[in-house]
Amino acid sequence: MKPSGFAYHRPSTVAEAVDVLAEVSPAGKVLAGGQSLVPMLNMRLAAPAHLVDVNRLTELAYVRVDDDGGRRTVVVGALARHTDVEHDAAAHAALPLLREALRTVAHPTIRNRGTTVGSIAHADPSGEMGAVLALLGGTVELRSARGTRTVAAAEFTTGPMETSAAPDELVTSVAFPVPEGRTGTAWTELARRNGDYAVCGVGVLVRLGDDHRVVAARAVYVSMGPVPTVLDLTEPVAGQDPRADDDGWAAAGRLAAWRLDPDDDIHATAGYRRQLAAVLTERALRTAARRATEVAV
Ligand SMILES: Cc1cc2nc3c(=O)[nH]c(=O)nc-3n(C[C@H](O)[C@H](O)[C@H](O)COP(=O)(O)OP(=O)(O)OC[C@H]3O[C@@H](n4cnc5c(N)ncnc54)[C@H](O)[C@@H]3O)c2cc1C
Repeated sequence: MKPSGFAYHRPSTVAEAVDVLAEVSPAGKVLAGGQSLVPMLNMRLAAPAHLVDVNRLTELAYVRVDDDGGRRTVVVGALARHTDVEHDAAAHAALPLLREALRTVAHPTIRNRGTTVGSIAHADPSGEMGAVLALLGGTVELRSARGTRTVAAAEFTTGPMETSAAPDELVTSVAFPVPEGRTGTAWTELARRNGDYAVCGVGVLVRLGDDHRVVAARAVYVSMGPVPTVLDLTEPVAGQDPRADDDGWAAAGRLAAWRLDPDDDIHATAGYRRQLAAVLTERALRTAARRATEVAV
């Protein structure tokens, strides 16, 4: 199929882009890497009257690590492709979870074109990057002709393919806070084929205290609900030695499976997804805890 007709706009600056969006709102759609939007246009699942192509906004093609008095943040501009984030050495050194999760996003050819911000703006419940942002308590920066605002990840994604961005707003960047202290992270998922969306995906964060025992554990899930689901799993693993083979890890997996409420679909039953969540959570927590012991503080 071919898309329905639309007017095509190609601004050169952010200021121009937000002016165009204001003019055509609510009939405009931002076109970034096009890896999700173009198929939707072709299948006529979306039929905007105006497309605002942001690919000339080179001022948004950046990945950087900010340091505000020791509080570090990886900031990703709207025109950074997944591959730019994946291969950025400073971002990887600060936050290895980004590369680990990105390697499960589609295939390299799609990552060469698709943007990390576009993926978060798209708000697919199977999208890894929105989940990583939610796990870390990150933020989304939005700009329109009316001004700039910053929204917490938890308030940005409001439902499957739904966000709190207004039709005239451009997401200019997202900020991933770097966890402080002796903290390890891990991403793991199961997909039917390499590069497919996950049947269940899990990202975790484990923090150790000065005595090298667990003080906090948190997990986020994709494909397990309408939005990325963040769970606090501290209780079953608190005080645990990361090197000991305690049964807290498995208990945390069971707790996650019990608290998640996925749907059946053509790929898997809800019961199978819960079982996967239990196994993957245990595995990811063990990995993250081991990594936390290697962090120099
Ligand atoms: C075969 C295939 C497999 C895939 N597998 C995965 C996967 O496993 N995991 C995963 O996470 N993704 C996957 N994707 C999607 C991929 O990550 C896309 O790149 C991403 O979802 C959208 O990024 P984009 O830059 O291509 O955005 P586009 O397709 O251009 O836009 C997507 C949506 O976001 C909006 N948007 C984009 N940028 C902005 C902005 N700056 N401000 C406001 N709105 C904006 C657009 O208006 C549109 O509604 C897959 C895609 C394909 C084709």
